[in-house]
Amino acid sequence: MSRFDALHYGSIIDGTMRDKGDRPRLEVVNPYDGSAVGSIAIATDEDVRDAITAAERGFYGTMRRMPAHRRADILYRTAELLAADADDLAKLLALEAGKPLREGRAEIARGVQVLKFAAEGAKQLYGELIPMDSALGGERQLGMAQRVPIGVVAAITPFNFPLNLVLHKVAPALAAGNAVVLKPAEKTPLTAVWLYRLLAQAGLPSDALHVLMGPGEPIGNILCADPRIGKITFTGSAAVGWGIKEKARRANVTLELGSNAPNLVFADADLDAAVASLTRGAFANAGQTCVSVQRVYVQEPVYEEVARRMSEAASRLVAGDPLDPATDVGPMITHAAAKRAEDWVRDAVAQGARLLTGGTRCGTLLAPTVIAGADSRMKVVCAEAFAPFVCLIPFATEEEAIASANDSPYGLQAGVFTRDLNRALRVAEALETGGVWINEASLLRYDHMPYGGVKLSGTGKEGVKYALEEMTTRKFIGIKLQ
Ligand code: NAD
Repeated sequence: MSRFDALHYGSIIDGTMRDKGDRPRLEVVNPYDGSAVGSIAIATDEDVRDAITAAERGFYGTMRRMPAHRRADILYRTAELLAADADDLAKLLALEAGKPLREGRAEIARGVQVLKFAAEGAKQLYGELIPMDSALGGERQLGMAQRVPIGVVAAITPFNFPLNLVLHKVAPALAAGNAVVLKPAEKTPLTAVWLYRLLAQAGLPSDALHVLMGPGEPIGNILCADPRIGKITFTGSAAVGWGIKEKARRANVTLELGSNAPNLVFADADLDAAVASLTRGAFANAGQTCVSVQRVYVQEPVYEEVARRMSEAASRLVAGDPLDPATDVGPMITHAAAKRAEDWVRDAVAQGARLLTGGTRCGTLLAPTVIAGADSRMKVVCAEAFAPFVCLIPFATEEEAIASANDSPYGLQAGVFTRDLNRALRVAEALETGGVWINEASLLRYDHMPYGGVKLSGTGKEGVKYALEEMTTRKFIGIKLQ
């Protein structure tokens, strides 16, 4: 555990840590037992502006000139280094994010893949030739559109995947030749510093990536107001995300926000597979996942059966210390978050919902909870839970299920379980979400697929190929042939 001793970090600008003991500190707390894991020195306003200045210099001086094969090599090498650190880093994810070891290892394995996808993507930034003579007068002109980096990218990330959600932004941004200012979640900043070190070790120049430590404000406000930032890529809550979009002066903005993901189980579904996928989808990462299974609409003939099987499966899950290999469900990120979730469950029960299992809380541990009889007026249904509970709601017809699923301000990802392919495609088309899984729960995400919500859930797409599009712009060069 020596690599975790006395973890204290300031912001990192041009490869140098900004803290002479003169900045306010913020503790990083183990969500399971409240012990201190480390601390950060909060960036001053001057640090933020210096980071942007350094990134601008890094873009024009270094990244814009770096050939694609070199950018790819750095990302490939980082992937190797990350894979080699998997055991230690999984422990750090358990300590600062409360993530069970198994889930931490899975996050790291995904991070390795994201780096490799980005390395491959760096070499695939093809442009196109424009048929100029399609326009009157365009004869004897040659036109090309190149994919070029945007410049300085500001990346702001949440606590729930402290490694992979940073990588979903930083890896494609660097692959495209941008310089980056990263503001990781203040609750889980230590993993971001670990990643920073690996990138540096892999050969990333010190002016290409700068890390700002601290809470969202005022750092976020300064980033939004600065015209030198060309792109803001944000993952986090809807309220903060849409606020950033309003405040951003010049930057193009990508928002990956929350949801209360719907999942539909039709009577003809393979119930074994559906219950297994939905249970994983509801309780992975203690429900603190943007596509966590929250609303499950079950067709009446199989409702009781699904309810029985899901509550049995949930009650078998082991909630506890994330460092214990036997743990399935770890703590929520803070006491306040766990208490808020418990209150929502209690309110639902007070309004007539029934607990099939769970509902109890011990500190930050909320027992995996299955709720029946909830309706769309209750917070457990209509607001984003981000907690280890799931609501089961019966339906009669396909139309009713679609209407209920779409009755949400959010639209990130959904799941549909049925053996009827026509129905599956019909329902997928009707659901107002950025993505739909058929015979898998809403939770599932592979890192190269297009991913991003509609409605309140966001704007723009991630998934490395799609993030690369958002991290580049098209530059036209025309030649008049003589
Ligand atoms: P959050 O919005 O509280 O914080 C996210 C980041 O934004 C943090 O780094 C935080 O410091 C920063 N921030 C806070 N206020 C800010 C401001 N005014 N300006 C700029 N930055 C600010 O979210 P969280 O609690 O860390 O994460 C949970 C949320 O993230 C959930 O809503 C979840 O659904 C969402 N999320 C979405 C996705 C996705 O891909 N769609 C993935 C994971 C999490």
